[in-house]
Amino acid sequence: MRGSPRSGAGTGGCVTPGIPAGCCDDPASSPSGPVSARIYVVGAGLAGLVAAEHLASRGGAVTILEASPKAGGRCRSYRDDRLGRVIDNGNHLILSANTAVLGWADRIGGADRLRMLDAAFPYLDLDTGARWSLELGRGPFAALSPRARAPGTPLGPLLRDMVRLMTGPARRPLGRVVRDRGAHWRTFWDPLTRAVLNEPPEGGDAGLMRATLMRSFAKGGGTARPVVAPDGLGAALIEPALDRLERAGATIRYRTAVQGLSDDGSRVTGIHLRDADIRVGPGDRIVLALPPAPLAAVLPDLPLPAPGGAIANAHFVVPGTDLPPILAVLGATTQWVFRRGDVVSVTVSAAEDSALDGMDRAAALDHLWGEMRAILIAHGCHAPRDRPAARFLREKAATFDQTPDGVRRRASTTMPWANLFLAGDHTDTGLPATLEGAVLSGQAAGRAALD
Ligand SMILES: Cc1cc2nc3c(=O)[nH]c(=O)nc-3n(C[C@H](O)[C@H](O)[C@H](O)COP(=O)(O)OP(=O)(O)OC[C@H]3O[C@@H](n4cnc5c(N)ncnc54)[C@H](O)[C@@H]3O)c2cc1C
Repeated sequence: MRGSPRSGAGTGGCVTPGIPAGCCDDPASSPSGPVSARIYVVGAGLAGLVAAEHLASRGGAVTILEASPKAGGRCRSYRDDRLGRVIDNGNHLILSANTAVLGWADRIGGADRLRMLDAAFPYLDLDTGARWSLELGRGPFAALSPRARAPGTPLGPLLRDMVRLMTGPARRPLGRVVRDRGAHWRTFWDPLTRAVLNEPPEGGDAGLMRATLMRSFAKGGGTARPVVAPDGLGAALIEPALDRLERAGATIRYRTAVQGLSDDGSRVTGIHLRDADIRVGPGDRIVLALPPAPLAAVLPDLPLPAPGGAIANAHFVVPGTDLPPILAVLGATTQWVFRRGDVVSVTVSAAEDSALDGMDRAAALDHLWGEMRAILIAHGCHAPRDRPAARFLREKAATFDQTPDGVRRRASTTMPWANLFLAGDHTDTGLPATLEGAVLSGQAAGRAALD
């Protein structure tokens, strides 16, 4: 099974070099006993959970294999002992346009753990001290209103670049589409591209930016309302799914990393774990819901986007602050601040392209706390001089490579092996690496596996 999916199915044997097929067997599907039809979902991130729920709720006998001790992948919450609070691994911006995510929360019973805000994005420019709120009214023309852009910035250059973005070819770097390097570059294109694509704006894929804007801001404020999770994303999107999967009879095996597959030329016949193999029976199906790096280890010949850049988050406990729930920051390393209760959390996307590159954790926290003090002071909040309890998390490969080169290499849901399907935000959803893309990819894989 070394053949590239583009060149057709492989020749049989072991997908991952060095791991023999059939070296030992999983007790759940021992070759000595009857092999009942099962569906194996590899990866318990959002995409894997969505695929598993789709299949389990339709009567499939689902087993999820997850390498880590916890579900949620890049969208996980946990109680941080140093902070004494539940935090997310990283701040996630969900918009009301993300109907797949909201539908998922609704389906699993997590919707009451989400809260929708007004379509208003407060900004603070630390260079000038200016503060404003970018507000979107209802309807498709709301984006043309002066309130939908930074004060004093003209509509003309923004409109011309928008027309170029909406009408030109998709697979181009945004830097070649957007010509205006004035105020809109600094206040709109740069922060938005980093937030949406986790890429500096020059190289990010214009088609993905277009897809995002068409689904949200271009339709007006109704689709651009931020959605926050006051108790953490896990409580809304992950934990209710685990309950639902358990009720549907699905099982999850944690600390179970899949290392390779074997096949007979047309179907996958075995799943290789570190110290056991699972025999895949004639009716069994597999959904691989892995990010590009571990997926490349399992399917070495599959063309895939390279892993993308890091997203850094710093969480500080600051009692008594009334910062808005979401704040965009210009003129600083800090790009966004999310406040949940007394935890204020800083996000820096494309972190390699920021002042944090090369800094150790302590230096990064000191640097970001200095900025946070300035942000608190600008909002008239108490700003302790000494850094409070804090946590710094740098998620490497937070997204896939979302330049045109990376986007061209996105894989499809179906594979030349009839019983193998892919899910994950890197698959060809037409959307950036987001929760929305992950949910859609999981649904697509679930549907394909049932077909
Ligand atoms: C810091 C950060 C901030 C983000 N901000 C936003 C945002 O604002 N808005 C937004 O929409 N999206 C955001 N994202 C992206 C979003 O989190 C992802 O798109 C989404 O969670 C991807 O889900 P997934 O299931 O495709 O992959 P993952 O969540 O990566 O799930 C893959 C799972 O596979 C497991 N695994 C890996 N290797 C193996 C193996 N060999 N065997 C078995 N299991 C394995 C992993 O442990 C993991 O649980 C952010 C991501 C990060 C990291």
